[in-house]
Amino acid sequence: MRELSVYYCPVCGHYAYFQLPKNAFCHKCQINMNLLGMRYQDFMDLDHEARDRLITRKIIENAPTMVNRICAPDKVYNQRELIGRLTAECSRLEKENQELNQTVEWMHKTIWDQLARIRELEKELETQKNS
Ligand SMILES: [Zn+2]
Repeated sequence: MRELSVYYCPVCGHYAYFQLPKNAFCHKCQINMNLLGMRYQDFMDLDHEARDRLITRKIIENAPTMVNRICAPDKVYNQRELIGRLTAECSRLEKENQELNQTVEWMHKTIWDQLARIRELEKELETQKNS
């Protein structure tokens, strides 16, 4: 029988054991899971906290640069600081998003104003041509 391998979901952190890579799929996130690269038995020997820490670190290591920057590897084990940093980044992104939405709204308004103005000018031209 083929040996089991440990896989984890890089989005929700769920882990499971599979014989075949094609079965390593997170149904909650609808994505393929990543191979942990550790022997099944070694992983089983870890307690739940050590498994959590290992997978947390894996997720951060493989995350986009932005997450890597926030979660500098030496800070990973300090959960409070990690959550603090991520919360701050979330707020910053929410604020940025809000500002971008306001800009888009403003641009839409400007475009509509311009269009209305063009129509007025066209009407004026028509009136002048017909007189
Ligand atoms: Zn998942």
